[in-house]
Amino acid sequence: MTDWLFPPAATPSLPIAGSAARYPVRRILCVGQNYAAHAREMGHERAEPFFFSKPADAVVADAADPVFPVATENLHHEVELVCAVGQDGSIIGWAVGCDLTRRDLQAAAKEKGRPWDAAKGFDQSAPCGALTLGVLPDPAASIALTVNGEIRQAGRLDDMVWSPDEILAKARRLWDVRAGDLIFTGTPEGVGPLRPSDKVQAHVGGLVPLTFTMRPR
Ligand code: MN
Repeated sequence: MTDWLFPPAATPSLPIAGSAARYPVRRILCVGQNYAAHAREMGHERAEPFFFSKPADAVVADAADPVFPVATENLHHEVELVCAVGQDGSIIGWAVGCDLTRRDLQAAAKEKGRPWDAAKGFDQSAPCGALTLGVLPDPAASIALTVNGEIRQAGRLDDMVWSPDEILAKARRLWDVRAGDLIFTGTPEGVGPLRPSDKVQAHVGGLVPLTFTMRPR
């Protein structure tokens, strides 16, 4: 038995729809600019997917409300289809996620060619709904996000530049992708600011919707 200096942190996990089992999260990979129109609004044309990551414990699960982050004047929402990798290395489940982004820190990092960790990988930056095990949602399914009931993002999964399986294949060229890895697959156009107490509702096709309120600090 290991003699820990202090108790190890709990394993972050997601609930699974219709099951008492939980999905243990190992890490979170994210794809940038994977919807044509969002890539254009960010000033890019179709290109190879690129990745960034968030720590596993950035996950906010079980409909918990993330605390509004420090160090930003421009927090943005990005609704995303999330893929969950299983023990056979394939995608075994799907969820609705929100890639919370400190857009001001990201802009500063881009300008200076610096890493995105502080812009993307901060605490509680990955609210995620319950996993649905099984096959990919209908490619024609809608992906949408509202803030206080107002539609901000609305797109379709078939607007994705790279499909989930293509993204997984690309990720495998860079990492030993394993069970417990979540992949955020990019966001459609319409990203925008969130303020303390804003209520966010997001859905992708028939997956379990994601709902949370930005908890004031
Ligand atoms: Mn994103």
